[in-house]
Amino acid sequence: MSLQVLLRRKIRKAGRKLREARLFAKAMHSTGHPILAQVIPVRRCNLACTYCNEFDSVSQPVPTGEMLRRIDRLADLGVTIVTLSGGEPALHPGLNQIIRRIRQRGAVATLITNGYLLTPDRIRAFNKAGLDYLQISIDNLEPDGTSKKSLRVLDRKLQWLAKYAEFSVSVNTVLGSPVRNPSDALVVARRARRLGFTSTVGILHDHHGQAWPLGPEQMAIYEELVKLERSVFSFAHYDRFQGNIARGLPNQWHCRAGSRFLYICEDGLVHYCSQRRGRPAIPLAEYGPEELRREFDSQKPCAPYCTISCVHDTAMLDAVRERPREMLVQLVARRREQDPAFQPPPLLGLLEWMFLDPRRAALFNRLALRLFGVARNSRS
Ligand code: SF4
Ligand code: SF4
Repeated sequence: MSLQVLLRRKIRKAGRKLREARLFAKAMHSTGHPILAQVIPVRRCNLACTYCNEFDSVSQPVPTGEMLRRIDRLADLGVTIVTLSGGEPALHPGLNQIIRRIRQRGAVATLITNGYLLTPDRIRAFNKAGLDYLQISIDNLEPDGTSKKSLRVLDRKLQWLAKYAEFSVSVNTVLGSPVRNPSDALVVARRARRLGFTSTVGILHDHHGQAWPLGPEQMAIYEELVKLERSVFSFAHYDRFQGNIARGLPNQWHCRAGSRFLYICEDGLVHYCSQRRGRPAIPLAEYGPEELRREFDSQKPCAPYCTISCVHDTAMLDAVRERPREMLVQLVARRREQDPAFQPPPLLGLLEWMFLDPRRAALFNRLALRLFGVARNSRS
């Protein structure tokens, strides 16, 4: 990697962290806007993984002008992160324009791709458009009848990303019943780490977004994968949702899909999530504060065995917002389950000191909001 790319990467990372801190403060301050929107610019995919129900082989891309209107509408609703997925979003001819518009409207731009269409030129174009995060999914070492998202095919793409990308890269591996060689996930995650990327693990769900428990071999691999993530604030360490799903246990939580999380299909309709398409299925142009408020409170019967981790993450932010003391205590306790000698780092101690006393918390909340320029919102 050239010194120039390294320097640009560092500068971009610092700017991104600052923007994220501001967006985090906004998410903490108010529940009246979506945190994350997953948007589908094209339903078509160039692969056909047998476990997937989110693609077809015929759809045309949504016209770029219409995509830009949808991004503007989401920005008007106050969304803070926009994730482009599919199908395969890299099949969309206007992808760079869409990423640029997300950034122009002040949101974090994220892309989920199978990586097949990545080239050095495309990576440089993503840099120029302002992409913040790219997640590439690798399911196995060698292509098989289930999936062709394989390390042997994609390693070259990972090397290009390591060399040229100025955005953050995360490699997602999977476990679950359709996975033939679960130990592949460890090899993929270690390769990702060696190249300087983060790694995540997803548990494959059935066609209703519901999980099946992992067997003993997969469970041991899951624990190893979680240990690879060393940051104390990582959702992987604290992700009690995912841990319960792996063990086949239900989660008690309030899914805020349709409010804090929106899924926008290729027809421009708002759905709860990729696995609950059809509800509420209201055009984005007509979706507003009333719908956001209603879905914030609505109960979803599919919640206990749900595997949609990005919706869990948004719910976790709201839980931290509502119960900071309890969540900080749980954060440390969960970390100690994995490492009994764990001592909270000074930053965590500082956060405890700042936010666990109600008067100090009010003072630091006001300071943070002023620092990050977050406007007051009536639904705080
Ligand atoms: S690459 Fe992704 S969208 Fe395409 S079939 Fe596989 S899982 Fe589905
Ligand atoms: S609980 Fe929420 S995110 Fe999960 S499947 Fe149901 S609607 Fe979707």
